[in-house]
Amino acid sequence: KEKEYDYLVVGAGLFGSVFAHEMTKRSKKCLVIDKRNHLGGNVYCEEKEGINVHKYGAHIFHTNDKRIWDYVNQFASFNNYINSPLSLSKGKLYNLPFNMNTFYQLWGTQTPQEAKAIIDEQVAKYGTKSPKNLEEQALSLVGKDIYETFIKEYTEKQWGKKATELPAFIIKRLPVRYTYNNNYFNDRYQGIPIGGYNTIINGLLKGIETKTNVDFFKEREQLEGLADKIVYTGKIDEFFDYKHGQLEYRSLRFENELHAIENYQGNAVVNYNDSSFAFTRIIEHKHFEFGKQSKTIITKEYPEAWDPSKEAYYPINNDKNQGVYQEYKKESQKLSNVIFGGRLAEYRYYDMHQIIASSLTKVEEILGIEK
Ligand code: UDP
Repeated sequence: KEKEYDYLVVGAGLFGSVFAHEMTKRSKKCLVIDKRNHLGGNVYCEEKEGINVHKYGAHIFHTNDKRIWDYVNQFASFNNYINSPLSLSKGKLYNLPFNMNTFYQLWGTQTPQEAKAIIDEQVAKYGTKSPKNLEEQALSLVGKDIYETFIKEYTEKQWGKKATELPAFIIKRLPVRYTYNNNYFNDRYQGIPIGGYNTIINGLLKGIETKTNVDFFKEREQLEGLADKIVYTGKIDEFFDYKHGQLEYRSLRFENELHAIENYQGNAVVNYNDSSFAFTRIIEHKHFEFGKQSKTIITKEYPEAWDPSKEAYYPINNDKNQGVYQEYKKESQKLSNVIFGGRLAEYRYYDMHQIIASSLTKVEEILGIEK
């Protein structure tokens, strides 16, 4: 071996950054490249008016895994932000996730028994034993009122398809809570890193060689020649030149607005269920960090059809795409010098804590360390 690096990491998101950090700790030499003009992948934040703007969509860190919590806390302290989104539906504001506050706002019910009786009755009337699509799944989990008020129109905007044409699994985990608790997540640990996500990325990549504005596919041969192994975190179909066909995604368009007021909506996240709004939610970034700036920045999130010129946010996990992905996966397993990891290379919608765990597991696997 006389290559310059042990690992060439393609993509400076969480998977690649954690991988490079762990390998560098073990005296492996890494080069991390990214085609964007910054590091951090989709957790990257852009500072505007002293506010960290989540440029590629809101990221709220949460995990039940103490190991992962301790891991990220090496690089940043976390504030005590708890995600408690609101939903504007049919002209009224409701608390999410579906809990006793929501039920009170929806039906005027005060006790868990009253709320449960309504949900049970609607589930019995409209639900089915084996739901075949998202609509049937929702009706079977939460009944008609909740489905029609909070889920149907939001979901159809988000995915650009009728709820009856969407797979049930998208909402398999719809939490219904019979307590007055507006915390969206059930996890033990939650928060936003103080100083923003860039602090974590910079901590992970400290002392590691990085290059931005480098497109792997434009200089593939030369780049591949630099390292013994490649860690590839981009789209898996692109790596294989789309030989088994193109994987599909759902994209998003973010429209930012600067408002010369301190507080626009009083909460970081407000979902807009109704189809009369083309966006699905408005994010007011300063509230993630309890910001007191005199101005505020909000982002309207518009779901969009995906094409290769757009960011690939959500994998569309239907049978067709899963079939195509399996072809690429088989192909990838034949390459002993390339490691595939992360949302795009595994064609899977991962949360941040899951990506970190999967990158750490990959490193341990490579090093043969027993957990
Ligand atoms: N969802 C919904 N109404 C809402 C929020 C979410 O019906 O107010 C459904 C929708 O189908 C969406 C899914 O739940 O695709 C997951 O949404 P979540 O906000 O949890 O995921 P994110 O898009 O933030 O990753």
